[in-house]
Amino acid sequence: MELADRLMAEIEARQGDLIALTQDLIRIPTLNPPGDNYLEICAYLETRLKAKGFDVTMVRAEGAAGDSDRYPRWNVIARRTGAHKGDCVHFNSHIDVVEVGRGWTVDPFGGELKDGKIYGRGACDMKGGLAASIIATEVFCDLVPDFAGAVEISGTADEESGGFGGVAYLAEKGWFNPDRVQHVIIPEPLNKDRICLGHRGVWWAEIETHGEIAHGSMPFLGDCAVRHMGAVMHKMEETLFPALARKRTEMPVVPEGAKQSTLNINSIHGGEAERPVDYTGMPAPCVPDSCRMIIDRRFLIEENIDEVREEVLGLLRDLAEKRENFRYDVRELFRVLPTMTEKDAPVVTTVADAIGQVMGKVPEYVVSPGTYDQKHIDRIGKLQNCIAYGPGILDLAHKPDEYVGVEDMLDSAKVMARALLELCPAP
Ligand SMILES: [Zn+2]
Repeated sequence: MELADRLMAEIEARQGDLIALTQDLIRIPTLNPPGDNYLEICAYLETRLKAKGFDVTMVRAEGAAGDSDRYPRWNVIARRTGAHKGDCVHFNSHIDVVEVGRGWTVDPFGGELKDGKIYGRGACDMKGGLAASIIATEVFCDLVPDFAGAVEISGTADEESGGFGGVAYLAEKGWFNPDRVQHVIIPEPLNKDRICLGHRGVWWAEIETHGEIAHGSMPFLGDCAVRHMGAVMHKMEETLFPALARKRTEMPVVPEGAKQSTLNINSIHGGEAERPVDYTGMPAPCVPDSCRMIIDRRFLIEENIDEVREEVLGLLRDLAEKRENFRYDVRELFRVLPTMTEKDAPVVTTVADAIGQVMGKVPEYVVSPGTYDQKHIDRIGKLQNCIAYGPGILDLAHKPDEYVGVEDMLDSAKVMARALLELCPAP
């Protein structure tokens, strides 16, 4: 049997191991926030990969946002160096999962296997992807011990909350330096026949309108900050939203609705603070002197961050000229530039070929509407040869009864192993 065929057969043979590994990972509830059980899951991965001959390093993101002695931000990186010089291929998965939410019909941390699907919070996003990359890498190392270069697997914290205690921290410490890592595959649940090249950009800002407090029975003696915010929203509806809908991208963003610029009003708070649920008193009659809105603007590779900001700043300046007593502040909260790996980058063409070999399909190239850890690898690590590729159906992420299909994990593990054979070949 040819080496590639032996790899494929061996992955099939380890189906039981793949299922058990995925279940074990799901059964460690790594909820974020707050960042539960990161040490437990990293220690689990350390034990497993050390036994398979990997050098394993545990890194706590000390001082990163969210890191505390109660909720330490642990990360794990495992590396196996080949027998010859060559490129390093790195599989990066986040270990955190989002809150459970309502509507589950199975135990969210049970890892139940039913009809070829493994259920649980994080099953598709992305413990199934992590498990698939581990099986692929272990099989590759066992069957091709004289491979060139190096293979790495990392489990990193906090992706769901920005990745600052995870990939961003590791990138700052040089773990994604192009001198030590040349190819990165992030097994996020993008469907097994799609390659995700990157993501749109993000601009978060808080707009505050100011007013003047007065007695609610005589609002004319004050100035209502909420009405000023109403004017902002009215102008957004009239000019900004239609303008954003007209901006279309050449990026292959999925789903279709995200092929344009978008803006979400994340929250608005004006006037008196919300009362605690157990408070039974009445509100006090006051004119609100402050109203704050958080906006979440997603932008395209064709747009520039200064333009994106200017659209909002210009709208506010215009209101300040035309509307009496309109006073405001804008605070930028967060920005991420769009990123898109070139289609002819080595990791892209290799994984595309592997998808063809394993599934007999031409892959679909996509761009994610939201960001993920590729942003840090690109911007901090300065490593552009990076994609997201992994099993699982994107639409199931963060939903109740999340699952990952065993067949999907096997197929994507085969793709990953084929890609390793190509990128880290034995002589
Ligand atoms: Zn994810």
